[in-house]
Amino acid sequence: MYGKFLTHMFACPFCSLHCDDLEISLEEQNLTSLFPICPKGINGFSNALSSLASNKKDKSSENWKEDWTRTIQLIKTAHHPLVIIGGGISYTAQRLAAALARQINAWADSPASLGGCALPWTAVEVGLTTCTLGELRANAEILILLDIHLEEDYPRFTNRIWRPGTQQPELLEINSHELFQITDQDPNEPLIKTLVHLRLCFSNFFTEPVIELCHTIGKMLDVSRGAIVFSSRLVSGGRMLTIELFGLLHKISVAHRCNWQALYLPGGSNWPGASQALSAESGYPCAVHFSPRQVKFSPIMYSATNLIEQNAPDLVIGVGDIGWLSTKALNRLRETPTIVINSVPLMENVGIWLPIALPGVDDKGIFLRADNVPVHLSPLIASQNPSAEYILQNIMEEFK
Ligand code: SF4
Repeated sequence: MYGKFLTHMFACPFCSLHCDDLEISLEEQNLTSLFPICPKGINGFSNALSSLASNKKDKSSENWKEDWTRTIQLIKTAHHPLVIIGGGISYTAQRLAAALARQINAWADSPASLGGCALPWTAVEVGLTTCTLGELRANAEILILLDIHLEEDYPRFTNRIWRPGTQQPELLEINSHELFQITDQDPNEPLIKTLVHLRLCFSNFFTEPVIELCHTIGKMLDVSRGAIVFSSRLVSGGRMLTIELFGLLHKISVAHRCNWQALYLPGGSNWPGASQALSAESGYPCAVHFSPRQVKFSPIMYSATNLIEQNAPDLVIGVGDIGWLSTKALNRLRETPTIVINSVPLMENVGIWLPIALPGVDDKGIFLRADNVPVHLSPLIASQNPSAEYILQNIMEEFK
C-alpha cells in the first residue's frame, strides 16, 4: 500500500551501520524526502521501491509454484550444494540459511570470506579475533582507517561510535594508494612516520626485518591498544595487501606486546549478521563444509567465490544479496543450477529467483549491526512477497 505519509525514526537496511533515525516521506511509491540519509541509503531505498513496483511475481502465481517445485527438486538431487548467506535478510533468516546448509550437507559461506578470506584466516592463525565497534570504542587508543572515507562511506560513523562526551581515539586516515607515494614529508611528524613505516612493511614484507619495523611502529605510536579498520575496498584492492596487513598486526602484537585488533567495516547491508549466523551454526566465521562428520573450516578452500570459480558446486543457493561474488564466479552461475532467494534478482537469466520481502522496506526483521547491536526494522510499505524466513522454513520442512 503506497500512500503519502511521513514517518520518523526509520532504520536503514543498506549498510551495516543501520542508521535508525531516518525521516522518510513517500508519495505514491516515490520517495520525496529522506532525512538524514546518505546517498547510498537514498539509492538503496529508491532501487528497492522501484524493483518492488516492477516485481510481477506473486507467491500465489503459477510461476511461483513452478519455481518452488523446481527448487525442491534441485536441492533433492544436488550432491555438492553451496549455500551463500548474504545481507538484505533478517538475522533470523541468516540463521535459518546456515541451518539449511547444515541440514543438506552443503558448503556454506558468508561475505566474511570476501577478498581471499585473509581476515578470518590470519585472525584464526594468530589467535587475533576481529573486534566489534563496541570493543573498539572501549579499547582502542588509536585507530587507523585504511581506505575508509568516513564522509563518503560512513557519513555518520563517528557519531554512531563516539557520542558526545565519550573519549575518542586518535584517528589516522590512510589511503593505501597514497602509502606508496609519501617520500619527502617532515619525518618528525608522527603520522608521516607511521605512513612511511607502514609503506615499508607493505612493500617489503617478505624481505625486510619485519620485527624491527614493527617494533619501530609500536614504539612510535606508543600505544598498547589500537585497531585497524578497513572495508571491502581495501580487500578488493589486493589480496596480498590484506594478508600483509594481518601479518603486520600479528607482528606488532607479538613483538611489542600490545593489543591490536582489526575491524572489517563492510559496506553491504547486514553482512556482520551473516558471519555471526554462520559462526553460531558452525563455530567458524565463514567458509565451512558441513558434509564431513566434523564441520571443516577453510576460508581458502571453501569460499563461495573459489568454489564457484572451480565449478565445484552442482547447486548454488544464494540467500540474500550475493552480488559481492567475483565477476568470474557470477558469470559461472549462468551455467550452474542456481536458486536466488532475495528481494531482487541476481542477474538476468541466472537460475531461479524466489522473490522475498526486504526488511526495512516491505518486511520487518532484526539486523545485527557491526557492533552486534540488534536493530529492529519496520516495513515502509506492504507487499505480497513472502519473508525469507517463510521460504527457508518451508524448504527445511521438505528435508525433515
Ligand atoms: S550510512 Fe548506511 S545505514 Fe546510514 S543512511 Fe547511509 S546507507 Fe543507510
